[in-house]
Amino acid sequence: MNEKPCTHEYLAATEFGKALFCRECGVVHLHIQNLSLRLGVADFLGLADTLTEASNKARAVEKDKTKRRGFTVVKQNYRLN
Ligand SMILES: [Zn+2]
Repeated sequence: MNEKPCTHEYLAATEFGKALFCRECGVVHLHIQNLSLRLGVADFLGLADTLTEASNKARAVEKDKTKRRGFTVVKQNYRLN
């Protein structure tokens, strides 16, 4: 049995969350506000890829919204004339 104590090293830490890795257990500890998750490396990487894909799409939607907001202003000006 592995008796070595866990040592958690930071993979990342931002205002939104922290990800720490324990080499002894091969576990990634993910802390997001009040939520805490323990994931194996493969599961963590799968989740990270999923979030990356989702965030890219969410950013594209936000960018599109900003563009449409711009068009709306142009339309309002047009209606005033
Ligand atoms: Zn550990």
